Amino acid sequence: MHGAQLDAIEREADARRHLLSPAEEMAKLGEESRPLLAYGEGIYVVDTRGRRLIDGPAGMWCTQVGYARQEIADAIAAQAMKLSYNSPWYTTNSPAAELAARIAEMTPGDLNRIFFTTGGSTAVDSALRFTEFYNNVLGRPDKKRIIVRKDGYHGSTNLTAACSGRAGNWPNFDIEQDRIVFISSPNMRLADGKSETEFLDHLVAEFQQTLEELGADTVAAFLAEPLLASGGVIIPPKGYHARIKALCEQHDIVYISDEVVTAFGRCGEWFASEKMFGVVPDIITFAKGVTSGYVPLGGLAISEKLLARVSGENAKGSYFTNGYTYTGHPVSCAAALANIAIMEKSNLLDHVRAMSEHFAAGLRSLADLPLVADVRSNGLVGCVECLADKTHVVADDFDRKIGARIDAICFDLGLIVRPIGHMCVLSPPLIITREEIDRMISILRQGILQAADELARGDI
Ligand code: PMP
Repeated sequence: MHGAQLDAIEREADARRHLLSPAEEMAKLGEESRPLLAYGEGIYVVDTRGRRLIDGPAGMWCTQVGYARQEIADAIAAQAMKLSYNSPWYTTNSPAAELAARIAEMTPGDLNRIFFTTGGSTAVDSALRFTEFYNNVLGRPDKKRIIVRKDGYHGSTNLTAACSGRAGNWPNFDIEQDRIVFISSPNMRLADGKSETEFLDHLVAEFQQTLEELGADTVAAFLAEPLLASGGVIIPPKGYHARIKALCEQHDIVYISDEVVTAFGRCGEWFASEKMFGVVPDIITFAKGVTSGYVPLGGLAISEKLLARVSGENAKGSYFTNGYTYTGHPVSCAAALANIAIMEKSNLLDHVRAMSEHFAAGLRSLADLPLVADVRSNGLVGCVECLADKTHVVADDFDRKIGARIDAICFDLGLIVRPIGHMCVLSPPLIITREEIDRMISILRQGILQAADELARGDI
């Protein structure tokens, strides 16, 4: 065996010895090896065994401009030498101020005040903490409940995990449930024969009824992704967000749009809430694509209207003490500015819009394959739902095994697919070309067909 390959295998063994990974199957702790990635270039990653793979999920929906962008590396190095850190408690730095101004230009409505965090979970957590602070300063200590949806995902802090409606994330953790109320996933596949308009009316009526049952004066916030990404790229019926927002306004409930996945170009806009989903939220959270994943950063944009009610003369001596050591980290903010500059210079949003229909058509071309129960997409994020029995709506453990098998086959063919249970989710780097989309779809097609054959032979 080649020396470098032996080296790589040795390093893999080391990784198994000391790393605890997210989504770790504890029965196999120390046994299972994850592919060890050596480097990335463009839309590809290469593992230590030399396998070159299209990065179908763009890391974790984040490497918008692709790997190995010199401009971002240079910006990071330059900022690290200029000012590598400052305490956000009593100083600030130019990249953070510049980035906040830049983001305020991109956000809809009057969402002009930016708080930076370390990632998506801390962004959503901070948005919820701001809402607590807001209602307490306004003298409404009972307005505390948070309405969220089944199938939603909002992070891995205590509070954001509790707000995540994917039950698979819960077992063996103590999840705070008192304040958190789940309503239905706006998934057309669960519409039970209703038309899109009827299903929308049904969802809005459920929200209204939930408010009546809880008492709207006990509800602080509605927290929602524009499309439910980790839930399987669930795109709500047209008009859903605007209708729910109208009810939130009526009852003075803060509408938080979790754009950790959808912001920074994924849906062809800087922020998807207004232009793609017809809603101007009170707070928007973001992370991932803001730096294309080169360094960690997240944040939230808060509306001036909300802030006006708890600042200046209305502040009543209060402090918003939600402090992270790395809030507005200068190196992360410099990386974000370089990332945004690349996106602007290359007209990446236009590119996403141009590729969006081609990507959707590619996914639709899989719809008639065996196993494929549904395909859906928006911008450059899509999902192929695979079920052993296409007529079923709800997946079981066996379907999840099929998802993992499709992923394994595709991996050997040169594509990382992100299997979320039985769903193959694709959200490639936004720089992907038409030909590369074709290649990605073609590999996924082979993966699905091979898994279907194996199933027919009884090998799965
Ligand atoms: N919100 C959404 C919608 C997400 O998809 C994620 C992560 N996938 C998060 C929040 C949490 O972000 P992070 O992993 O950066 O903490």
